[in-house]
Amino acid sequence: MSKTILVTGGSRGIGRAICLLAAKRGWSVGVNYVHDKHAAEAVVAAAARDGAKALAVPCDVAKESDVIAMFEQTTEALGPLDGVVVNAGIVAPSARLVDMSVERMRRVFEINVLGAYVTAREAARRMAKSRGGKGGSIVLMSSAAARLGSPDLYVDYAGSKGAIDTLTVGLSKELGREGVRVNAIRPGLIETDIHASGGEPERAHRLGATAPMGRPGTPEEIAEAAIWLLSDAASYTTGAILDVTGGR
Ligand code: NAP
Repeated sequence: MSKTILVTGGSRGIGRAICLLAAKRGWSVGVNYVHDKHAAEAVVAAAARDGAKALAVPCDVAKESDVIAMFEQTTEALGPLDGVVVNAGIVAPSARLVDMSVERMRRVFEINVLGAYVTAREAARRMAKSRGGKGGSIVLMSSAAARLGSPDLYVDYAGSKGAIDTLTVGLSKELGREGVRVNAIRPGLIETDIHASGGEPERAHRLGATAPMGRPGTPEEIAEAAIWLLSDAASYTTGAILDVTGGR
C-alpha cells in the first residue's frame, strides 16, 4: 500500500537512503534537513525521477516551533502521514566525559533526545486514532552505542540513544491501542558523514572490520529495516528495538 512518510535528517546518510528506498516503492516523502538544502533537494529530485512525490522541509529538530511547522508543511503538501522516521542526530568529537563541556552535552541531548521526543510527540498527536488520526508507524533511530556505552568516544551520544530505546518501549505502550506502532533500529557502524563530524572519517571502516561480519554496514542496509518497520508487513511489531549491526 502506498504511504506518506516524513524522515528527519532525510537529506544525507541513513535518512537519505530511507527516503530513496521509500520513493522507489512509490511512497510520498518529506525530506527534512537543517543546513544542507542542496542535499535535500537532490533527494527530492531523485525521488521525482522514480515517480514519487517528495518535499524538502527545513527544520532544526531542537526547536519545537520548527518541528511543528515541519509537520504542518509536510501534511499540507503531501497529505496525512502514515509514518515518521525520527532519524536526525549528531555526534560531537571523541572525548572522555572528564573532558566534556556542558555546552557540548546540552547540544547532543537537545538534538538527539529532546528533538526526537518532540518529533515523536508531534507524530503521535497526528496519527493517534483517538485524536482523529488514521494510525501509523514511528521508527526511531537509536544506535548500538545505547548498549555499548561508547567509552573514550562519546558517552553523551550513547546516553542520548539509551533515551531513544526507553522512549520506544514507553511510547509503544501508550500508542498500542491508537493504531500507532513504535519501533527503533540500532545501527552499528554505518558508512556516513557522521564519523567525520565525530573527528574520524574512517571510523566506520576501522571499527567495522572488528564486527562479527567483518565490515561496516551501508545506509541502504538500515533503510531496508526502516521500510519494513514502516510497512504493513510489520503489522504486529511494536516496541521492538532491532539491532542492524553485522553482529556487533
Ligand atoms: P549524517 O550522515 O551525519 O546525517 C545527519 C542528517 O541529520 C543530515 O540529514 C542532517 O541535515 C540532519 N540533521 C542534523 N542535525 C539536525 C537537526 N538539528 N535538525 C534536523 N536535521 C538535522 O548521519 P547518519 O550517520 O546518517 O545518522 C542518522 C542517524 O543514525 C542519527 O540519529 C545517528 O545517531 C544514527 N546512527 C548512525 C550510525 C552510523 O554509523 N552512521 C550508527 C548508529 C546510529 P543537514 O545535512 O542539513 O545538516
